[in-house]
Amino acid sequence: MRTETIAIHGNYHPNSPGDPATEPLINSTTFRHPADGLDRDGYSYTRHNNPNREHLEKTLATLEGGSDAACFSSGMAATAAVFQSLEPGDHIIFPKDVYHGTRAIIHSVFNRWGLTSDEADMRNVQEVESLIRPETKLIWLETPSNPLLHITDISEIRKIAKNDILICTDNTWMTPILQKPLALGSDLVVHSTTKFIGGHSDLLGGAVISRSNLNFFDKIRHHQQLGGAVPSPYDCWMLSRSLKSLPARLKMHQENTNHVVAFLQQHPKVEQVFYPGLETHPGHKIFASQSEGFGAMLSFTVKGDQKTTLNVVNRAKIIIPATSLGGVESTWEHRKSSEGDESATPENLIRFSVGLEHHEDLIEDIRQALI
Ligand SMILES: *Cc1c(COP(=O)(O)O)cnc(C)c1O
Repeated sequence: MRTETIAIHGNYHPNSPGDPATEPLINSTTFRHPADGLDRDGYSYTRHNNPNREHLEKTLATLEGGSDAACFSSGMAATAAVFQSLEPGDHIIFPKDVYHGTRAIIHSVFNRWGLTSDEADMRNVQEVESLIRPETKLIWLETPSNPLLHITDISEIRKIAKNDILICTDNTWMTPILQKPLALGSDLVVHSTTKFIGGHSDLLGGAVISRSNLNFFDKIRHHQQLGGAVPSPYDCWMLSRSLKSLPARLKMHQENTNHVVAFLQQHPKVEQVFYPGLETHPGHKIFASQSEGFGAMLSFTVKGDQKTTLNVVNRAKIIIPATSLGGVESTWEHRKSSEGDESATPENLIRFSVGLEHHEDLIEDIRQALI
């Protein structure tokens, strides 16, 4: 089956007359035992496993080309499960330009618990290689990166990681529909399903997906079932429902983004547009070879200072000044304010998640905001 078909039919299909056309929602937290005790491979208790979570995990694993997936109650819970599966004393390398929560949890939690870390410009493979030590266990990637849309060549990182070091790629911005990091040499993929996969700004979730034959994934599963940061059956059911329209939504998200990028590029008040779909973007070629499309996330800098930029953000009438991304509604934000004091993001940068409104309405809104 092809992507669109998998996204819709997933692992549920009505086979007998009277079967519901869509997957039933099963809220039960507990399941009847066999007479001789717990059924370890079946359902027993919803923290451990649940039909709706299992269905979502199987569909996500299939879409990513992986063998298994573990779903969590947020993207950060999924990220934390990966780091918690390492050992004190292990060393990790992560991108200088990265989702700010990832940096924050490494610094404020995992460094305290004995994980050591270095930041690298992932565009520079030699720089990454020079940071590798005997204790290096994992390289974290995010491509495109947040918020500057740097592109990492995943297969080049695989070469320097050899078979010794795990690679985990945060694929939130691209979704498995556009980019499949496992096929490029990543061992694990992390998603915040809160974003494009959920797609309607109404639920939080996360997932870790594993390539086949990766023993390390057992630790992540163990952590999921015992740590308990699991999504509710309802959230899993909602995500399976959202997945069905994801390929179609992404097509329109990207079409709208092309219109928006073209408009921003010729606007006299815009200093620079960061979008890897542009041929002038330094990562364009690598990205085109890694991805089916260029996505619907972009950043741009405004000619002016922080105050000018905040005014542009606040003048929007359709686009919602808000953090997060991937919803049907367009959102944009002054990213430096969201990231807080440690942020190295330019003060005149706006991060933009292009939604599914009519593109002409979006462009009129941007035009009046940029006066
Ligand atoms: C939002 C986001 C996260 C964190 O996910 P939550 O669901 O908010 O916990 C991680 N990585 C990226 C790239 C994100 O955009």
